[in-house]
Amino acid sequence: MLKLKDETLLKSDAFVNGEWLASSKRFPVKNPATGEVLAQVADLGASETERAVAAAADAFPAWKKKTAKERAAILRKWFELMMANQEDLARIMTAEQGKPLAETRGEVAYGASFIEWFAEEAKRVYGDVIPTNQAGRRLIVLKEPVGVVAAITPWNFPNAMIARKVAPAIAAGCPIVVKPAEETPLSALAMAELGARAGLPKGVLNIVTTSDAPGVGKVLTESQLVRKFSFTGSTEVGKLLMQQCATTVKKVSLELGGNAPFIVFDDADLDAAADGAMLSKFRNMGQTCVCANRILVQDDVFDAFAAKLSERVAKLKVGNGFDDGVTQGPLITMDAVEKVERLLKDATAHGAKIATGGKRHALGGTFFEPTVVTEVTPSMTIAQEEIFGPVATLFRFKADDEAIRIANDTRFGLAAYFYARDVGRVMRVAEALEYGIVGINEGIISTEVAPFGGMKESGIGREGSKYGIEDYLEIKYLALGGLQI
Ligand code: ADP
Repeated sequence: MLKLKDETLLKSDAFVNGEWLASSKRFPVKNPATGEVLAQVADLGASETERAVAAAADAFPAWKKKTAKERAAILRKWFELMMANQEDLARIMTAEQGKPLAETRGEVAYGASFIEWFAEEAKRVYGDVIPTNQAGRRLIVLKEPVGVVAAITPWNFPNAMIARKVAPAIAAGCPIVVKPAEETPLSALAMAELGARAGLPKGVLNIVTTSDAPGVGKVLTESQLVRKFSFTGSTEVGKLLMQQCATTVKKVSLELGGNAPFIVFDDADLDAAADGAMLSKFRNMGQTCVCANRILVQDDVFDAFAAKLSERVAKLKVGNGFDDGVTQGPLITMDAVEKVERLLKDATAHGAKIATGGKRHALGGTFFEPTVVTEVTPSMTIAQEEIFGPVATLFRFKADDEAIRIANDTRFGLAAYFYARDVGRVMRVAEALEYGIVGINEGIISTEVAPFGGMKESGIGREGSKYGIEDYLEIKYLALGGLQI
């Protein structure tokens, strides 16, 4: 049984129009480390989703009219409640998602930081006064909330991926309907409970839990009442939802897959590079969209770097995320395990060598050994698909241009990383990489104060930072004429 300080944070009904909405249909949420059923969650369908959208639309006029300072005060309170309940939120997340408590505590603080940040940014949504082109008139630009927002989020960051959308939407004056991933709805529901305690008016935040993602997704993307759609998930599903949004010409933000290169040049600090690669690759068992997917190492430092990485990987501890010292939990589902196995099989069949790990962990279930594979080449499937598992793939390259060419040879463009000391090389490579985020001598790039988002098929829009609220605003231009000035 999941032990919490505040048992009332463990909710299993959906949250619509400020109330907990039960349903006779339920679906189980399981702990991926043990298979234990944590809750039977309300399984909503299209008609309840329409109700949630209507509740958000009803809440819009009053929420929009609140001053930014009033909206900010509620968000600030919500941030404080999330931090006050950090341990419970972390425990709920470890139970439903599997990652270790140290990581879920970090994610709760990271998610809350977006709510704090956008509470502050709410007050800085400035318009413009444009120098007029004619006497007797004035040109004024207003920024207005776009309207009802719908969001669909993934299971890998059950708190932060919601906070990154909900906080700027609510700060801008937009009510929102969120459909969390079916694997991890409990974190979303606990956040909603704290949002209600913070004073969010009814209908401003709605959580639609469901096992029918396509059915609920269709309502959220095709409803006339929804003006903006924000999605984090796979590129394949993102493309489908973008098409569905076309029927009503919604504004769309997409944060999709990545295939991050992590380049180690021969002048890099190899210990720093190995530490950075560990963070970028093995955090969340390799299940992040900014995980190093292809580690490119210059020929003359390849063996030294591979040895340093393998040494660190050997120290990782696999187990239940609630146990002390565990750094690697289970993968989210058996499908994820099978995908990793398929990619490894293809790579080794084409000449890649397993340096460490490479198979299911002795603990069974969806636990997988942290793995290092060397002599990987760009033509292998593992180099082209997002691995989403604890497998570090090492490629060899000789010249800088070759590394840049391999790094950019993908339809994705979310995060890239490289380690080098020469300042000319640093700027040349940074400018050549076709990625929305570039970590230079850094393995962790996410923060609420900087813009997160991708180029190419990795997405549209940015989350966090002063840019993150723009996605939830419309620009309105007023031509004010007839002035007797
Ligand atoms: P992942 O492989 O990380 O689970 P998905 O893109 O499948 O990525 O899932 C991300 C989110 O998209 C989840 O909330 C999931 O329920 C939802 N989703 C998946 N397929 C659809 C769909 N056809 N329509 C709407 N939402 C979907």
